[in-house]
Parts: sequence; C-alpha cells; structure tokens
Amino acid sequence: MPRLRNTDIPVRFPVRPLRAGQDAKARATCGECGLSWDDGIVTSMTPAPSARCPFESFHKTLSERQKRARENRKHKATERTRARLDYHAAQNAILARAEDIVDHPEMYGEIAAGLLRSSVSTLRLAKLKLEGY
Ligand SMILES: [Zn+2]
Repeated sequence: MPRLRNTDIPVRFPVRPLRAGQDAKARATCGECGLSWDDGIVTSMTPAPSARCPFESFHKTLSERQKRARENRKHKATERTRARLDYHAAQNAILARAEDIVDHPEMYGEIAAGLLRSSVSTLRLAKLKLEGY
C-alpha cells in the first residue's frame, strides 16, 4: 500500500498525522496515503468531509515518489542489461583470443600476453558492474 510518512507533513501544517498506536478521540486513516489523523480535533481541515483526506495536498508527493521509484527501477534494469551485454562481449573476446591460440599455437606467448592484459581486466570490470545490479 502506498504510504506517505509523517515527516512528509510539515510541522506547521494544521493537522498532525498520528503516530502508530497514538491515542485519538476519533482516529481516521486515508486509504490512499495511509496517514492517520484525529478527526476529533477541530482544525481548519478537520473533521474531514467523508472520503476526504486532510493531507490530500501531499498526495502528489506520494505519486512523484512512486514515479521516481519506477524510473529508478527502469534505469537499473537498463543498466543491468547493458552490464550483462558487456560481460558477454568480454567473454566472447576472450574466447576469440583462445581460438587464435588454438589456431596459431606458435603465437601462444604473444596472444596469451595480450589476452591476459586486456580481456581479463575488461572481464573483471564487466563482472563487477554486473554484480552491482
Ligand atoms: Zn491521504
């Protein structure tokens, strides 16, 4: 369930969100943001009309936060895919150099040195990146 946090409501706001288990004369809870308030305390905004939430003006904070979280997940998925492709590309580069060695055993030393220098460090970097997601 989407929830605003009590700290999302500025201290100067006329209605204070109730803490969990806090006593109230008439506890009310919003189904959208999940915040509770005491409808038994009369303020400029409470008692709230039926099906209304005194924190409605902060609901946009909630949808912005969800939107950011969605974009963040999408971005991470893209990065994960990119890291996976880099990793496979590095594996293929090593395989290609290994095949070069098989085909040209007389070049072993030279090819192996190049392989160890470039491919292994590339593969290690790609693996680190992949493990980060
Ligand atoms: Zn609400």
